[in-house]
Amino acid sequence: MDQSSREHTIRMDRFHSWHPFTQMLDWMASDPLVIERGEGAYLTDAEGRSYLDANSTIWTNLHGHRRKEINRAVGDQLEKIAHVSYLGLAHGPGAELAARLARLAGNGTSLQRVFFSDDGSTAVEAALKIAYEAARRLKGDPSPKFLSIANAYHGDSVGAVSLGQIPAFHDSFGGLLFPVDKVMNPSCYRCPFNGARYEKGISSTVTRKCQWQCLEQIDDACRRREKEHGRSYAGFFVEPLIQGVAGMVVQPEGWLSRACEIVRSHDGWIILDEVMTGFGRTGPTFAFQKAEVMPDILCLAKGLTGGYLPMAATLCSEEIFGAFLGTYEEMRTFFHGHSYTANPLGCAAAQASLDLLEGPHDGAHRSWQAEMLTKCLAPLWDIPIVGDIRQCGLTAGIELVRNPETREAFDWREKAGVRVCEKLRDFGVLTRPIGNIIVIMLPYCSAEREFTLLQQSLVHAIGDFYQEWKESGLNNSARK
Ligand SMILES: *Cc1c(COP(=O)(O)O)cnc(C)c1O
Repeated sequence: MDQSSREHTIRMDRFHSWHPFTQMLDWMASDPLVIERGEGAYLTDAEGRSYLDANSTIWTNLHGHRRKEINRAVGDQLEKIAHVSYLGLAHGPGAELAARLARLAGNGTSLQRVFFSDDGSTAVEAALKIAYEAARRLKGDPSPKFLSIANAYHGDSVGAVSLGQIPAFHDSFGGLLFPVDKVMNPSCYRCPFNGARYEKGISSTVTRKCQWQCLEQIDDACRRREKEHGRSYAGFFVEPLIQGVAGMVVQPEGWLSRACEIVRSHDGWIILDEVMTGFGRTGPTFAFQKAEVMPDILCLAKGLTGGYLPMAATLCSEEIFGAFLGTYEEMRTFFHGHSYTANPLGCAAAQASLDLLEGPHDGAHRSWQAEMLTKCLAPLWDIPIVGDIRQCGLTAGIELVRNPETREAFDWREKAGVRVCEKLRDFGVLTRPIGNIIVIMLPYCSAEREFTLLQQSLVHAIGDFYQEWKESGLNNSARK
């Protein structure tokens, strides 16, 4: 891109674009990074500099950019048709993708029915409405209620925000939301009960004195609801194995299966949000396969098309699907859907992406990558402000703290995460922080070269930030 077209882009952007989750006054005060191309694990900006895509384009990209297999599949589909409505019509790409997802996620028996939508939020919204209506019909619950965990993120639409438990969003839109009960999340590093000791080089996890209060709270909540309402929760919405937006919070081993067991013993459905964890991020194709939990409803999005096109799927059991069957006059239809449901280009991209996921980027390849990631992050423990490193398969979060002994957090105004990510960018690595947590998620095409670049950049970026912060004297003026 020549300089004048880059400047033109920036000017048009400044006057007309409104970016997500962005304070636009800050945004408009400086020139944004303009990305022009992508190739494999790298993005190239309008001035020809390349960057490692270390958060997989906000957790969507699986196999790298401009994969010839996916390009070809989308191109072939374009020769037939780009889009046709799923309302009243069927098509091969939709039917075949539904069947493949049902086979991958439920062996074709447990999660047989697939409802397509557009993104993570719409997948969750569909799950919510399906579960709500099915609970009224199958469980005879006149006012079904749901349970979720602290700091859960399930998307931005009003239903998904209600299910989520992120205080900033609830503060803004509280008046629009419906009540969803909350229990603590299993965040060992910040657990108010176990006070796990700081052990250098060892990620926070349950200690011997842990009494699993996080599980007790689920049981207590289910019992309370049963006592007050006659029925417990219609369902439990949860991100399996790791909560992403909460700050890459990895659940301790055994938590998910035990939590689900408790909810099931109170006749509640398990609704898993695998929008982030799906398609190999945690190792297996789906996180629930590692935890040996079978959901009643499953939400998929981000990686479904390999990061090519917006598309999502909500899978459910035949039991739940059955609640919507009846004669025309009975009005049991699921009254819900979108214009671009089951877009054939998205389906074609998804099929090619799944071929790669079951081919060169299969479970064995992903295990190797998870090991590479562990080795890549290990030296970071030596930097005094690295408090915790949490990894789940191919995803990781590095939590920066003022003091690793006391776990005292950086004040958000110190912008520790933002400043480290700015430095990473200077070293040719792009990612975004969540508060003081640096998120790492490489595309599956990454090889040794990428892990080496990532390691060196992290060591220098965090190390340089630490030096500057120490020299500024702010570390001595710790708040009392
Ligand atoms: C990103 C995300 C969503 C929302 O997906 P969008 O495509 O951004 O609407 C929902 N749940 C989880 C767990 C996510 O990570």
